[in-house]
Amino acid sequence: MIHLEGISKSFPQKRGSLEVLKEIDLQIEKGEVFGIIGMSGAGKSTLVRCINLLERPTKGRVYLDGAELTCLPEKELRQQRHSMGMIFQQFHLLMQRTALENVCFPLEISGVPKEMARARAEELLDLVGLGERLGAYPSQLSGGQKQRVAIARALATEPKVLLCDEATSALDPNTTAGVLRLLKDINERLGITIVVITHEMSVIQEICNRVAIIDDGQIAEMGGVEEIFRAPKTQPGRELVYHEG
Ligand code: ATP
Ligand code: MG
Repeated sequence: MIHLEGISKSFPQKRGSLEVLKEIDLQIEKGEVFGIIGMSGAGKSTLVRCINLLERPTKGRVYLDGAELTCLPEKELRQQRHSMGMIFQQFHLLMQRTALENVCFPLEISGVPKEMARARAEELLDLVGLGERLGAYPSQLSGGQKQRVAIARALATEPKVLLCDEATSALDPNTTAGVLRLLKDINERLGITIVVITHEMSVIQEICNRVAIIDDGQIAEMGGVEEIFRAPKTQPGRELVYHEG
């Protein structure tokens, strides 16, 4: 469903350029929960931002369900981005808007009539367990609740894919477990493919089917989670698996 072909990304620097991703090939299947791990600075966030083209790759192609995204003009791309939701460590909610208004927001900007947007947002907040807190402002919600609002908002445009960049890193273990259960539930019940970046190896073991280890802009190792955690084959793999829990 997501297919990356020879993705490279460089950022210009004062002298020359910094090559952050180097010819990455990756295929993520429909319905998978796919993990991406690697040391800080390895290129994980850049890779995920290349999947939804928040970052334009310097080279290579991105396909979603067989259709190439990298060749689309910005306007069509904006449309296509609705098929990929994203959540972040810092939630990125609109602080002046209630939970309900936050979830309505992407629907309203894509032209959904107000009443319809509201009904859909209520349904989604119910799904994430916040049906009783529609009118709460982000400042009145806990970290876990804020992330649930962000998940509901990401689901508003009925994406095929949910991209999660350190989505549980700001949460305590119990709250993390709840958010992971929710993500798993969304994956199983709605059939949404999920890509998870994390520094927490337990998160990968909890919900992912496969995992890729990114090292210095390349895939060092990729495979089933059990297999990689039982016997990592590369040095970057061993560092990640054995140094953490
Ligand atoms: P972390 O685990 O700390 O989040 P990461 O694996 O997500 O790290 P990236 O954020 O993808 O790493 O960054 C990879 C490299 O690319 C870093 O050296 C970073 O400084 C650089 N980089 C990322 N975005 C930009 C940008 N917009 N301009 C210049 N350099 C960038
Ligand atoms: Mg990152």
